[in-house]
Amino acid sequence: MAKTEETKMDKIISLAKRKGFVFQGSEIYGGLAGTWDFGPYGVALRNNIKSLWWKKFVTDREDMYGIDAAILMNQEVWKASGHVGGFSDPLIGCDGCGSSWRTDQLLENQPDEDGEYACLACKNLLGTKEEILKKTKKFNMMFQTHIGASNDSSSISYLRPETAQGMFVNFKNVVDSFHPTLPFGLAQIGKAFRNEIAPRDFVFRSREFEQMEIEYFVDPRDAKKVQATFEELYGEQINFLKELGLSSEKIHKIEVPDGDRAHYSKRSVDTEFDFPFGQKELLGIAYRTDFDLKAHTDASKVDLSYFDEETKERFIPHCIEPTFGVDRLMLAVLSDAYTEDEVDGEKRVYLKLSPKIAPVKVAVFPLLKNKPQLVEKAREIFMMLKKEIPGVMFDDNGNIGKRYRRQDEIGTPFCVTIDFDTVEKGSGVTVRERDSGRQERIEIEKLAAYIKEKIS
Ligand code: ATP
Repeated sequence: MAKTEETKMDKIISLAKRKGFVFQGSEIYGGLAGTWDFGPYGVALRNNIKSLWWKKFVTDREDMYGIDAAILMNQEVWKASGHVGGFSDPLIGCDGCGSSWRTDQLLENQPDEDGEYACLACKNLLGTKEEILKKTKKFNMMFQTHIGASNDSSSISYLRPETAQGMFVNFKNVVDSFHPTLPFGLAQIGKAFRNEIAPRDFVFRSREFEQMEIEYFVDPRDAKKVQATFEELYGEQINFLKELGLSSEKIHKIEVPDGDRAHYSKRSVDTEFDFPFGQKELLGIAYRTDFDLKAHTDASKVDLSYFDEETKERFIPHCIEPTFGVDRLMLAVLSDAYTEDEVDGEKRVYLKLSPKIAPVKVAVFPLLKNKPQLVEKAREIFMMLKKEIPGVMFDDNGNIGKRYRRQDEIGTPFCVTIDFDTVEKGSGVTVRERDSGRQERIEIEKLAAYIKEKIS
């Protein structure tokens, strides 16, 4: 890992905390590994990402049905899906210090001259690759809990490790209520939980995270059309990343080879992104065939087939699953947007966020805090903009230069200043653009429309 890139990650983490985007989970108690709390700007950024996604993939389309399933589900769901039996990571323990490592991640490190790998914490030698693979155990990543007062096996449940199964078990409900014709999809945004052996890289690998997933059901009788739909949905994933403003050259398509795919997938394409710590998976798409609906039909004894009214045939639809992680998207946009430059000989840090997702779209300032006529007018304009634009902020702290810097650091695309000419001559307000620092005079009556046009 390059030293400069390491430094960039440190700077992003520090900015995220300082400015109220992301805090360590349970921080005042020393934290809880793999958990993060989101502050006001983090929530706003995530909500903007999620709203854009929901609009693009659900409300703007006629073939998508939004659902919100419970996080806790009947344990039979997770047996049928294969998670109880097989949702595991390879784990190697260290006898020296008792720490545990994911075998594949440990083997990414350099062995010593005898080919032995060392524990990453205490440097105790754990053995050669062959010895480590022999000692490796399977570690199930689901968080188990008990429902109700009893503690026996019948009360076991899990915090869901993915949102997908909530959609498969609601397939019949949606079909019975809405009678959709194929192809159609179910979409969901929600929390998922995985007991990651080694959470790391800030919010990239957490134990509690949020997914945005689609289960898109297709007619398997036309294999060519299934492939075309796969390509179309993959294309929409990439278009979404462009809408978020991510740099195209940092986005990479990875066709997952046969041996590396999940057992249920006939084709998988991962989308990787150049994070400051390297090129890593951002999101994915998988052709899950009829694996899930068949498995739930077999286990629940409820028929999850589809009846084609035209051909009078009954069959189990196939499923294509585009999946997105909110946390990795958040990290991608923060790391891509983080920029340093110089303004008037002074170093400046700013987030070059797309106005569509910036937590604050416009900040309104009176030129001077101690001039009531400026403050009054500024508050009037602030209230006017607030009615029309989400994410408007009022700031009268410190001098104008400091206020600009503060807004730059959270990625606010526009700052509006009310000065003496505004109140005395009615000559409009100054609108300053974040990236270029360019200032323009805009009439008050045209201000809301001007900003709305720029942020849409
Ligand atoms: P990885 O190989 O990195 O563990 P995965 O292939 O297991 O990821 P999926 O099961 O395909 O991930 O999950 C779908 C999406 O959920 C991922 O593309 C990612 O954006 C997000 N995701 C998965 N695990 C985590 C995690 N531990 N922390 C944050 N986001 C995650």
